[in-house]
Amino acid sequence: MINTQNSFSYFGYFYMEIKILSRCIGCGVCSQIAPEVFDIYSNYAVTNEYNIDNFQDECIDASIICPVDAIKVFI
Ligand code: SF4
Repeated sequence: MINTQNSFSYFGYFYMEIKILSRCIGCGVCSQIAPEVFDIYSNYAVTNEYNIDNFQDECIDASIICPVDAIKVFI
């Protein structure tokens, strides 16, 4: 399931939550780093919440590399 709100992984309890801030410019870098988690929809990054936990390292990498610091990761 893809949504444009806060996303979180859920396998009985939380592992990691990702929030895309409105400053996202839709550059697509995150979706190149972790295509299983990030996608671009209408020039804005969205997340697939069900894949976050299996790609935590990639999510952190995307958060670090995002040029406008729009990916916030909560563990
Ligand atoms: S890398 Fe950052 S600015 Fe680029 S699409 Fe992803 S969240 Fe948006």
